[in-house]
Amino acid sequence: MGKIEDLQVINGEGYQLGRLEKVVAAARANSVWPLPFATSCCGIEYMATMGSNYDLARFGMERMSFSPRQADLLIVAGTISKKLGPILKQVYEQMAEPKWVLSVGACASSGGIFDTYSVLQGIDRVIPVDVYVPGCPPRPEQIIDGIMKIHDMVRNEPLRRRYSDEYKSLLNKYEIEGNAE
Ligand code: SF4
Repeated sequence: MGKIEDLQVINGEGYQLGRLEKVVAAARANSVWPLPFATSCCGIEYMATMGSNYDLARFGMERMSFSPRQADLLIVAGTISKKLGPILKQVYEQMAEPKWVLSVGACASSGGIFDTYSVLQGIDRVIPVDVYVPGCPPRPEQIIDGIMKIHDMVRNEPLRRRYSDEYKSLLNKYEIEGNAE
């Protein structure tokens, strides 16, 4: 959770001034809507992370979205086969900007122990990834750590980043058409 002083607001009598960029970023960081793309055991760890013991609701994240158009954080947890790669990419493309990707566990990040002909050796072969969580499986604490790293990125992202040439060339590398405009 970001500190209120991070917002750099100036309080006066009857008014409050702040930088729009900071306020928007704080609002986004505290209302991330995740889309869990869980295919195997790491998905179970993510379910534990959502439960009352670890409590994702404290981040304003209890509302899971199984519709890509109403989600801004894609959480990929589990083994992704090569056949599933294009579907994962389609889900990513359907999400509106700004969007972030968390790769949970060794399988999603690198194929894990499944160095075989049928398993994608890391989801970053088909979509850009913001944060990788190591482990097989990672514990809920590690997943929360990854989520908090995403929050930091969201909180510090310039408002115009998604329109930058750098971001467009990142998407071009994946042959993904940007939907920022
Ligand atoms: S990283 Fe390990 S725990 Fe996670 S999906 Fe792969 S095999 Fe299962």
